[in-house]
Amino acid sequence: MEKKFQYTKIGIPRAISYYNNYPFYYGFFNSLGIEVVLSDKTTTKTINEGTKYVVSDTCLPIKVYVGHVVNLLDKGCDAIFIPSLQSTDYKINNCSKIRGLPEIIRNVIDREFTMIEPTLDKTENIGLYDFCTQTANACGIDDKKQIKTAIENGFEIYNNFFKMTQSGVSYNEALENSINGKFITRSVDIVKPLSVVIMGHGYNLFDERISLNLIKKLEKMDVKVYTSINVSRESSLNAIENLGEIQYWANELELTGTAAHFLLNKKVDGIIALSAFGCGPDSLMVDEIAYHCKERNMPLIHLTIDEHTGEAGFITRIEAFVDMLMRKKRSLISKKSKPAAKPAEIVTLNKEKILTSAVK
Ligand code: SF4
Repeated sequence: MEKKFQYTKIGIPRAISYYNNYPFYYGFFNSLGIEVVLSDKTTTKTINEGTKYVVSDTCLPIKVYVGHVVNLLDKGCDAIFIPSLQSTDYKINNCSKIRGLPEIIRNVIDREFTMIEPTLDKTENIGLYDFCTQTANACGIDDKKQIKTAIENGFEIYNNFFKMTQSGVSYNEALENSINGKFITRSVDIVKPLSVVIMGHGYNLFDERISLNLIKKLEKMDVKVYTSINVSRESSLNAIENLGEIQYWANELELTGTAAHFLLNKKVDGIIALSAFGCGPDSLMVDEIAYHCKERNMPLIHLTIDEHTGEAGFITRIEAFVDMLMRKKRSLISKKSKPAAKPAEIVTLNKEKILTSAVK
């Protein structure tokens, strides 16, 4: 029987599902003895490269994804992991672009390489075990025991990453530590004058070029920033339900669920929605949250990004929002600290009781 070719190196684009799943991918491939090659961090060049291949109204994260695939090909990777993530729970779907990523890449990049393209589709009963088996088989590995061990290894690294982020460790720090087999926690929750939650996809928020370093910019303004990595899956699901909404999109937990959690707990002074220009699912989710914010008097700003978004205008909008939050907070504090009006006095005149106001 002809022996299947086994890949010992696989390229992973540093985009889309990388941002939520990389600790798992890393642990899984590592256990199978496959070296992972990551594309370089996103730069303006990555965006320009990706933009060349797709139609102009494609959203920025997909342009970036294409740019990362090109980067891996330029690095000499001949096998690239490009999963098709259809649904992450029964009838909980990803947008059509994420579902069709292998097809997009096949149709726009006319270069020779192997695509490792497993499908995850829980609506069709194709779960994580099948997804991982497809991946391993495509790499030339059929041993079921080896695949099971690799899945367990992936989960071990992912769970460490998840626990670290839940304890307050930043995204980058948790990612680096989990990959290096380290575990740290942050027990002290730093108190800052203002706090905000950002609702946005991991692939927009944690890509420093796409988000124009939004988290760092806010932290420099002394603002405490919360994101989806600080909210558990259960809390997100509960918050969506308590808001009277339903989960439809796969990314609903990191957008609607995260914003709803902080909105209902009133733990933040404002909400920032970060989304890509032209993204259908995001516009629905942001509108939904904006409606509930209005009802609860919670300030919200919606920042949209594309490849033309300039840093100067972006900073101006954030600064104006933070200024507004600070003024609102100061005015609330000063209202609370004003001395309470004296109780009305009762004076007796000609034996008639007349109520007078204590405040002249
Ligand atoms: S969810 Fe929106 S931003 Fe993400 S890939 Fe789909 S269209 Fe693009």
